[in-house]
Amino acid sequence: MKDAIIVVQDLVKYYDHFEAVKGINFTVREGEIFGLLGPNGAGKSTTLEIIETLRHKTAGKVWVDGIDLDENPQAIKQIIGVQLQAAGFYTKTTLVELIDLFAGLYNATVDAYQLLESVQLQDKAKAYFKDLSGGQKQRFSIATTLINRPKIIFLDEPTTGLDPQARRNLWDLILKIRDNGTTIIITTHYMDEAEILCDRIAIIDDGKIIALSTPDQLIDQLVASGFEKQKQVKQANLEDVFIQLTGKQLRTE
Ligand code: ADP
Ligand code: MG
Repeated sequence: MKDAIIVVQDLVKYYDHFEAVKGINFTVREGEIFGLLGPNGAGKSTTLEIIETLRHKTAGKVWVDGIDLDENPQAIKQIIGVQLQAAGFYTKTTLVELIDLFAGLYNATVDAYQLLESVQLQDKAKAYFKDLSGGQKQRFSIATTLINRPKIIFLDEPTTGLDPQARRNLWDLILKIRDNGTTIIITTHYMDEAEILCDRIAIIDDGKIIALSTPDQLIDQLVASGFEKQKQVKQANLEDVFIQLTGKQLRTE
C-alpha cells in the first residue's frame, strides 16, 4: 500500500511459553488516527511497544515509514513520539525544564513555551508535574511526544481515568495533532471515543485481530448481520446529562 506508514506482518510475541500476540497483520496509513481496541490482556500494549522498538518481537516483520525494524530501530526511534512514563518526570523539575531536558535527550531544539501553549499549559510552565490535574498530566505527556516533531505518535490509553470534560479536551488535542499531519496510533477502552477519534480501528482479542475497518463500516456490518439493540435507544445518554449539567469547560485548571 502506497500510503502505508506502518506495516505489521505476521507479528508474533511470546513471553516465555505464553503467546501474547499470535501472528497479526495490519497497516497504518499516513495521516490517520488508527485505534487498537480490545479487552485487557489482548496484546495491544505489547504490539505498540514492539513497533516503538521498546520490546523485542518473537517473529514477523515491522516497517515504519519504510524502515525495517530489524535493520534500523534507531532510525525508527527518531521519527516516532512515545509517551514517556510519569516516573521519569522528576519531582523538582518544572514543565519547561522537563521539556528542555527531553529535547536535549532527543538532540532536538524546541520552544518549550510554544509547545506548552499548544497543549493549553502555558500557565503551568513553572509548575511541577506532580501538581497537575489528571487531564493536565496527560496533555503534558502528549506534548512530550511532540518534542522531536515525529511523523507518528503512540498513545496508549491516554484518557483512562479522566473526567468527561478532560476527556473531551484531550480529543480536541488529538484531532488537532492529526490535522497537523501527524499519524496517531491510540488504544482506548472507550468506544464513544474510538468512534469519534479513529479513522480506522483494529479489534484485537486474545492476540489476534478479529476485525479491522472504519468505525462506520464495523457498525454497518453488525447491523447488516441482523443485530438489533434490545432497548430503544434514547436521544441522549447519562454522559450527555453530566456534560450538560456541569459544562464543557475544564474544571481543574
Ligand atoms: P493489553 O495492552 O491489550 O492489555 P498486553 O500487551 O499488556 O495487553 O498484554 C498481553 C498479554 O501478555 C497479557 O496476558 C499480559 O499478561 C502478558 N504480558 C504482558 N507483558 C508481559 C511481560 N513482560 N511478561 C509476561 N507476560 C506479559
Ligand atoms: Mg495495555
